[in-house]
Amino acid sequence: ATPMSVMVGTGRGAQAGVLIRDAEALERFAKVDTLIVDKTGTLTEGKPALTDVIARDISEADLKSYAAALERGSEHPLAEAILEGTADAPRREATDFEAVTGKGVIATVEGARIALGNAALMADEGAQTAAFEADLARLQSDGKTAMFLAKDGAVVGIIAVADRIKPTTPDAIRALHAEGLRIVMATGDSARTAEAVARQLGIDEVRAEVSPEDKAALVEELRRGGAKVAMAGDGVNDAPALAAADVGIAMGTGADVAVESAGLTLVKGDLTGILRARRLAEAVMRNIR
Ligand code: ADP
Ligand code: MG
Repeated sequence: ATPMSVMVGTGRGAQAGVLIRDAEALERFAKVDTLIVDKTGTLTEGKPALTDVIARDISEADLKSYAAALERGSEHPLAEAILEGTADAPRREATDFEAVTGKGVIATVEGARIALGNAALMADEGAQTAAFEADLARLQSDGKTAMFLAKDGAVVGIIAVADRIKPTTPDAIRALHAEGLRIVMATGDSARTAEAVARQLGIDEVRAEVSPEDKAALVEELRRGGAKVAMAGDGVNDAPALAAADVGIAMGTGADVAVESAGLTLVKGDLTGILRARRLAEAVMRNIR
């Protein structure tokens, strides 16, 4: 790589909202054939909204009220959606709040143990989900994220939220495919929800129910298979996966540790930035050869 063309490339990148760490990152990115992206916040807006409340053996108002009491203690993006969508419910206070990473939240409300989260959390609670299986399947097949609410070890309802696909995502995916990239979606969400979203978008491969720690293992697995992997991530938890990739891409308002482990940093957290970076990398490499 001639220093001049890399410099020009770096300058053009900065204008386009792509910060490039060094010439090697750009060179490696031109050779990448597999891109791993998050669902939430990258493909979708990352601002889910409440869509469904299914209450059984409890009133809808009580279900919403318990959910709100728990989510007031959570900083998860899902919590914001649930709080907004339950603002009309009677207010209850939660104590002994506990956030279970990748699963949900647990707290005590008026002496009852309330848990809100995914099937794994319900399994931990010993709460049977079978009676809600048909509802769950329907919601997830629509691409919604559905959460169970259990009271004292029995599931009493489901709350679902949906996150809009960014308007720029479909075109960006088509263009990235035209660039020869295979796109893998990694998400902590359920397989059925993830596959519904992936199908809509023509995503090549889905890895669902992936914890942040699993993402680094996924990168290594794909690299062992011979792929040249770029990993896009936005969080503190993504740093190991970004570091394990041929090129780490820190997205949007990325945490500082994510930026440190990244070869590329995108000011805006969507696929359009990745596409711009790819075209830039190729243009710079063409000038050099
Ligand atoms: P992602 O960041 O990919 O959306 P997470 O690993 O953060 O996924 O969460 C995985 C799943 O755990 C969520 O889809 C949801 O079912 C459950 N969960 C996590 N946090 C919460 C919360 N605060 N309230 C309800 N459910 C939650
Ligand atoms: Mg997350």
